[in-house]
Amino acid sequence: SLSGTWTLHNGVKMPYLGLGVYKANEGEEVINAVSWALETGYRHIDTATAYENEEGVGKAIKQSKIAREDLFLTSKIWNSDQGYDSTIEAFEKSLERLDTNYLDLYLIHWPVKGKYKDTWRALEKLYKDGKIKAIGVSNFLQHHLEDLMKDCEINPMVDQLEFHPWLVQSDLQDFCKLNSIQYEAWSPLMQGKAFDNDTLKELGEKYDKSPAQIVIRWDLQNGVITIPKSTSKDHIKSNSEVFDFELSDLDMKKINALDREERIGPDPDNFD
Ligand code: NAD
Repeated sequence: SLSGTWTLHNGVKMPYLGLGVYKANEGEEVINAVSWALETGYRHIDTATAYENEEGVGKAIKQSKIAREDLFLTSKIWNSDQGYDSTIEAFEKSLERLDTNYLDLYLIHWPVKGKYKDTWRALEKLYKDGKIKAIGVSNFLQHHLEDLMKDCEINPMVDQLEFHPWLVQSDLQDFCKLNSIQYEAWSPLMQGKAFDNDTLKELGEKYDKSPAQIVIRWDLQNGVITIPKSTSKDHIKSNSEVFDFELSDLDMKKINALDREERIGPDPDNFD
């Protein structure tokens, strides 16, 4: 169900499905999107300092009157704020903008070379101080994770990565599973670019679902947490209607076979 969760390696429960708000404009647009999502039953919101909409997310949460402990709120530290002291400061500012006193999940947005270990120590400190329920990374490939885990005290609980039928990275998924790092998908809908794919359209007809719902369901059956973005009330609702059907093993394999190792976002090895 929409309230279904996976348990992270520290015992924290993280909802399978959340609303992503990248490029949702600060103010009315993001406030509406988050409000509609919460009305629909979403309890997990994914924002970032870089999205410049944390205030709107905070306002929508306040307006909803939903108890803070019933929500799962994620934000991310931006590249230019990385480093130990600057991370602590940036985190406190995020809390202020979000109008809350803790985060459920805080992620290192990108693996900035020479900095991400200091940044991680700051996340560990904030976690131990009880200000973040779970800490993780984003866009860390296997070599980044190995390098971090060599020196860290607490292993990341989550890695949020580009993941969709054109970019499956099954070796990275296996590595994360082996290390109890929960895989989370960003741009799960390929930013809307693949809805006219024949396989996804055929499967949509077979299950009486939209291609978007087929892809979101494929994420869930892969054990991947997913945060499709929309600012449309109808899409926010329909993207959550994925708990009343199940893709067969064969159909799961058909979608896996669409893999082209093709990124729509930046390559983590060449970004910072
Ligand atoms: P997405 O794959 O979720 O696609 C969003 C696009 O698809 C939007 O343009 C929307 O209008 C369209 N769409 C949504 N539902 C639809 C539907 N049912 N039918 C037709 N069109 C539909 O793209 P995204 O926003 O890039 O990724 C999702 C979230 O992941 C982001 O909002 C953000 O929270 C996160 N993210 C994280 C990183 C990172 O580096 N960690 C990078 C990109 C995105």
